Amino acid sequence: MRFKSLGSGSSGNATLVQSTGSDACNVLIDCGFGLRQLLQRLEKSGVLPDQLDAIFITHEHGDHTGCVQALSNQYSIPVWMGAGTAAAMGYNNASGLLRTAADGDVIALNGLQLCPFTVPHDAREPLQLTCTDGAAKLGVLTDLGHATAHVLGQLQGCHALMLECNHDTDLLAASLYPPFLKQRVGGHYGHLANSQAADIAGALLHSSLKHVVAAHLSRQNNMPELVKSSLAQALSCNANDIIIASQDNGCPWLTA
Ligand SMILES: [Zn+2]
Ligand SMILES: [Zn+2]
Repeated sequence: MRFKSLGSGSSGNATLVQSTGSDACNVLIDCGFGLRQLLQRLEKSGVLPDQLDAIFITHEHGDHTGCVQALSNQYSIPVWMGAGTAAAMGYNNASGLLRTAADGDVIALNGLQLCPFTVPHDAREPLQLTCTDGAAKLGVLTDLGHATAHVLGQLQGCHALMLECNHDTDLLAASLYPPFLKQRVGGHYGHLANSQAADIAGALLHSSLKHVVAAHLSRQNNMPELVKSSLAQALSCNANDIIIASQDNGCPWLTA
């Protein structure tokens, strides 16, 4: 199984997960770009839109939903999301391609299994997920204000992690954001600070954890060097072993 961020940050998020066996399966997690932009990013990654077997939408914020409706309709791709997410975004299911996902489900696709779980974030029914091809396990964890025991339980044993490192607490405090926005981002239902992400990474460290990709970095309130040093410290690894998923280019294909 391999995966690739197509871009990550508050201007748009999308991640490809691909099983590499004989029954190759491609899943797009989140779709937070305009259609033309997303198609360009897919093309660069070597996956055609009609090769997508499924789309999974984590929550209704625009940096995750983007062109999902158009992409699904145009290429007849089934879309999974929480019922609350579909309601909150007013999803039009005239195509009949909408599928409901919920915490605890196991979504069995041809070659990949998706296991969504609830996270604390200021959306109607936010779900993050793990993906497995039966051998490797990838955990995707962005857009949450804090880690819960449930979140940490779901992510045990991951071979690869995409982990939100949204902001540095000091940079957020000193930023020009209005007070309500600082409170939202740094609050219990907002986004993870580097120090919180480092605690999560440390709690999930085990000898078979191969890749940690830092995602959803704030352009204003974070710096890649700060992310790398705080995760590297928690994981007792070299700062250069930490991969950053950027807004413009995401990250290279990585094998879980
Ligand atoms: Zn987001
Ligand atoms: Zn969000």
